[in-house]
Amino acid sequence: LKSRLPAVGTTVFTLMSKLAAEHGAVNLGQGFPDFGCDPHLLDLVDEAMRAGLNQYPPMAGVPALREAIAAKIQTLYGRAYDPDAEITVTAGATQALTTAILCAVHPGDEVIIVEPAYDSYLPAVQLAGGVPVTVSMRFDERGYSVPWNEIAAAVSPRTRMIVINSPHNPTGTILRTDDLDALADIVDGTGILILSDEVYEHMVYDRQRHESVSRDPRLAERAFVVSSFGKSYHVTGWKVGYVAAPASMMAEFRKVHQYNVFTVNTPMQHALAGYMRNPASYLELPAFYQRKRDAFHAALMRSRFTLLPADGTYFQCVRYDRISNLSEAEFAQWLTREVKVAAIPVSAFYSRGKESRIVRFCFAKRDETLELALERLAQV
Ligand code: PMP
Ligand code: GLN
Repeated sequence: LKSRLPAVGTTVFTLMSKLAAEHGAVNLGQGFPDFGCDPHLLDLVDEAMRAGLNQYPPMAGVPALREAIAAKIQTLYGRAYDPDAEITVTAGATQALTTAILCAVHPGDEVIIVEPAYDSYLPAVQLAGGVPVTVSMRFDERGYSVPWNEIAAAVSPRTRMIVINSPHNPTGTILRTDDLDALADIVDGTGILILSDEVYEHMVYDRQRHESVSRDPRLAERAFVVSSFGKSYHVTGWKVGYVAAPASMMAEFRKVHQYNVFTVNTPMQHALAGYMRNPASYLELPAFYQRKRDAFHAALMRSRFTLLPADGTYFQCVRYDRISNLSEAEFAQWLTREVKVAAIPVSAFYSRGKESRIVRFCFAKRDETLELALERLAQV
């Protein structure tokens, strides 16, 4: 078979999880919690299944869930999306991202991607026949930031979409209002769409707030805004997420969604709708993760790793230049095999690789897991 994606192999997340399992390493690589969700959420799934809610739901998602999502966005970001026409429940954020790209990008269209980038964006653009145009984040002593002047310079008459991700995987950078202003200036008067990956929207620290694209009308009117219940409610295996967008864009999204997955599993949607009805379910998340982040930070500060600034996500990037000269991939493998703590090389988030001696740890783990990992990392 002639490959549509010749450059694609197994993801670094899968490879590092496998290596971690082989070597009995604490897995701080792939981003997923090692703790369970709220048992009340499981009860709601059980109730939904036993109530017979096990057949196809409406194509765009269970209405109660779409209403709950709209209510959340209104509460947190002040935009009123119409749950009937402007919100669709997806099989995780990955499907939302790929479907948004497939419905909007025509062959030859350019899509600007900021690197380091989550690994699904670029292959989705290639599947659509689009041309990925990558721009690297700036990196200095204040950490990673988006170089808006370079994004502006990368825009051409063929630019169809700009993909942004805040809070950002893997760097933990968050976009602030001046970033969104810069983006709004770039797209003003153009037909460029925004794909905003906000799966870590509830993981923003130090009393800062998440600046959702949906908060800014200049951007929201041209944006697909994506999130994931897997991240928010500690259930990455459920693969339920959503996308919000203006009705005309959502109509095109649903044309692809309808023949891509048609619908997303029913009982989980009912359970999530019930769970979200209590705003505490999302309002308490930043504090939950801040505590883990602070403990992880404080302990790593005493190690030979250098912590990079991070304002959001459940990831912490560290420099290891005081420890090793190995490449990032080699260092991550060495750390997994010899120190028995798995990490992800940040070079894997660049289409052409980039060596900065930085790896990413995930701290969405039980306190005991983090303590064991930190004990080992302190020996390095
Ligand atoms: N975007 C980013 C930035 C992510 O980190 C992830 C999770 N790995 C996803 C999208 C995919 O989310 P989901 O598991 O809901 O498909
Ligand atoms: N988003 C997760 C991460 O960045 C992994 C998801 C996956 O394995 N594809 O680690």
